[in-house]
Amino acid sequence: MKRRIPFTAVTLTALIALAGCSPSTEQASTQTSATTTAPTPTPSTPTPPAAAPLATPLLARVVAAPVPVPATDGRTHLVYELLLTNSMNQDVSVDSVVVRPGDGDPLLTLAGAELADRTRVLGTTAPTAALGPAQSALVWLDVTTENGRTPTELDHQVKVTLTQPMPPLLPAEVTETVAPVTVQTRQPVSIAAPLRGPQWWDANGCCGMTAHRMAINPIDGELWGGERFAIDYVQLMPDGRLFDGKVDDLSGYPYFGADIHAVADGPVVAVLDGLPEQAAGVNPTGLRLDEYGGNHVVQDIGGGNYAFYAHLKTGSVAVKPGDRLSAGQVLGQLGNSGNTDAPHLHFHVMDGPDPLKADGLPFVIDAFRLTARTSAGVGPDGDAIDAVLAGKPAPLQPDVSPRDETGLLPLVSDVMDYPDE
Ligand SMILES: [Zn+2]
Repeated sequence: MKRRIPFTAVTLTALIALAGCSPSTEQASTQTSATTTAPTPTPSTPTPPAAAPLATPLLARVVAAPVPVPATDGRTHLVYELLLTNSMNQDVSVDSVVVRPGDGDPLLTLAGAELADRTRVLGTTAPTAALGPAQSALVWLDVTTENGRTPTELDHQVKVTLTQPMPPLLPAEVTETVAPVTVQTRQPVSIAAPLRGPQWWDANGCCGMTAHRMAINPIDGELWGGERFAIDYVQLMPDGRLFDGKVDDLSGYPYFGADIHAVADGPVVAVLDGLPEQAAGVNPTGLRLDEYGGNHVVQDIGGGNYAFYAHLKTGSVAVKPGDRLSAGQVLGQLGNSGNTDAPHLHFHVMDGPDPLKADGLPFVIDAFRLTARTSAGVGPDGDAIDAVLAGKPAPLQPDVSPRDETGLLPLVSDVMDYPDE
């Protein structure tokens, strides 16, 4: 079976995919329209604009207010998710989502196939912008700006088409202005790299529709995006391959057992060790919720930021809760425990100590060398991950010049050299 994104770490794919659906693509023929404004309160909602309340077929809120972060593409990213719920007993389609900085020019417009690609009905995996009666859907947003300029407020114009209009209350087309959100003013935490040496590849990271980005997990009755900015690290050999020999032989992965270093000063708040190594090349089954991260360390790195180091080698965890770590200190070794199908380090920063019941926060790595980027969609049925799991070199984009970087979030596909000390 084809595995587009094999390095799933703590993603609760099975939990998310419990329900099926048959979203309608039926379109209304009536072309009347209306614009309504109905802010949906969120914990970070600014003062709603003074406008007459109007009926809106969709309810809307953001899962968590975004924190701007500069990334290796030279842009500043605001990464968050919009939750839409069809309040109607009829099929509706979302025609467009426009993200605006208050009343200014749009920062992002999603429509058509691009919107569908970014949208999933809860519990399903198929791209769609059609919502059945009472269905909810998530829209994954990656709003980017240039020159470090970031908005302080965002709102969302959502155009929706009803299949059974109810004029004058609800015409066939309604444009809602919903889910205003105040951009967080906190700064991404600056950290050292958790690994040393060359050719560390971000094989699953921000900000597209990767497994980490899409892992918005239902836990204790709420949605949580702990892995929003998570990175799955694997190390490419000089020739670009991942392993020597057979895909299921852990000893063939030269980076298996690599030292993992604390990314900042701070105390350890949780550890787990003793879970076995998984077989490489297959996705494990039968894991409990608390086993997804495998052997792991959670560290309080200050400012409300918690670092999560996961899938560590069995028996390698070298720290215990209460230990005050210094940046660079070795805390364990890279392994293949928990929900993993190839040796890798899953690393993320979050706003609380629970790896899944937390919101993922952006971070920047203080110094590294960006050496290459892998390419997606190479070959008739492959991408970079398919290639390396088939024992081939990772295909690289041709136009990336190696360069030293400071204070940036790595993006998925980046290949990086990290300082040796
Ligand atoms: Zn992961």
